[in-house]
Amino acid sequence: MTVFSLTEDQIAIRDMAASFAAESLAPHAVRWDEEKHFPVEEMRQAAALGMGGIYIRDDVGGSGLSRLDAAVIFEALSTGCPTVAAYISIHNMCAWMIDRYGSDEQRQKFLPKLCSMEHLASYCLTEPGAGSDAAALKTKAVLDGDHYVLDGQKQFISGAGVSDLYVVMVRTGEAGPSGISTIVVEKGTPGLSFGANEKKMGWNAQPTRAVIFENCRVPVANRIGPEGIGFKIAMAGLDGGRLNIGACSIGGAQGALDKALGYAQERKAFGARIADFQALQFKLADMATELEAARTFLWRAAAALDEKTPDATKLCAMAKRVATDTGFEVANQALQIHGGYGYLADYGIEKIVRDLRVHQILEGTNEVMRMIVARSLVGRAKGN
Ligand SMILES: Cc1cc2nc3c(=O)[nH]c(=O)nc-3n(C[C@H](O)[C@H](O)[C@H](O)COP(=O)(O)OP(=O)(O)OC[C@H]3O[C@@H](n4cnc5c(N)ncnc54)[C@H](O)[C@@H]3O)c2cc1C
Repeated sequence: MTVFSLTEDQIAIRDMAASFAAESLAPHAVRWDEEKHFPVEEMRQAAALGMGGIYIRDDVGGSGLSRLDAAVIFEALSTGCPTVAAYISIHNMCAWMIDRYGSDEQRQKFLPKLCSMEHLASYCLTEPGAGSDAAALKTKAVLDGDHYVLDGQKQFISGAGVSDLYVVMVRTGEAGPSGISTIVVEKGTPGLSFGANEKKMGWNAQPTRAVIFENCRVPVANRIGPEGIGFKIAMAGLDGGRLNIGACSIGGAQGALDKALGYAQERKAFGARIADFQALQFKLADMATELEAARTFLWRAAAALDEKTPDATKLCAMAKRVATDTGFEVANQALQIHGGYGYLADYGIEKIVRDLRVHQILEGTNEVMRMIVARSLVGRAKGN
């Protein structure tokens, strides 16, 4: 398989996602950010086009596509609104965890409504005292007959309060990663509640809340896979999640670069179009080059995950760091090209910069990405 050019099918998928982004997301993105509106109806329209379960098997309504296809889709969607695209990415990650590790009964129960986005899902790993060191999580699930009783709190959960399903990493056993299990908690379960919608720098078109469990009884039948593999499930989900979030950065930045190109050809200073100044042309050339390098690398990592190569996790971590750092830098330069107007909300550029900033923090900070890469390098140097 070559990843240096897209197939006809991939081009058609990309064009479909880009049209949807241009028609249904972009015209509203600035307003949704201002009003903190979570556009559930538009996301269901995206799901009707196959974007609710992109790499979910088709017997439960998924699209059965590859990780590379998903990267192409999330880049295209993000040209309309990175925040909405990123939530759809998290939703897809949760659905995949159930598809990959759930029983057939669980797949049939949860996935058709997730693929249509009639139900939305949230990924619940982070806690107030466990972010980068996620394996230190403390939310406990104690077995009581045919139920688990959950107590604890998750922090920073995207979609919380609106989502219908919470894919929660809980402690069922010893300290460390091997004592963690994954349980699906359904909205409306007694003992499940939410914190206030956090006020934040960007990503305002999706809610972020704490998820609180107090004596919350969840059927054992909602545990995904056996006890003790929850951390493995969470990390496997993140391999793909990191590709998607990287793609969202590239798409957001591409949208910002396109706006900057248009603006530079209209805006005049010193009697010329600012696009005629070589300093600005070189800036644009570097932005386009670095974005293309990040995109190409992301596709390589996606192909590795599709092929399940042994270095896939490392490549996904590398690609997430490069794509999110590059995306933020390119968007920030696009703002600079707009001068003072870039700083005004109406131009839609400052929103992209604010939205892309958090991609360097979540789904594992970019320092954590370096830890993952460094571990494999140092391990190899020691002959491990
Ligand atoms: C808007 C938003 C949405 C989010 N959505 C979700 C979600 O849906 N589900 C979910 O589970 N989580 C979510 N998160 C949480 C996110 O994944 C965490 O914020 C992130 O993993 C970092 O954890 P922390 O904030 O506790 O930072 P910490 O872990 O406290 O890190 C603080 C700083 O120390 C650095 N650091 C930590 N350890 C090391 C080390 N060993 N070496 C070098 N540097 C280190 C970090 O890189 C960081 O710069 C979201 C966060 C935000 C802001």
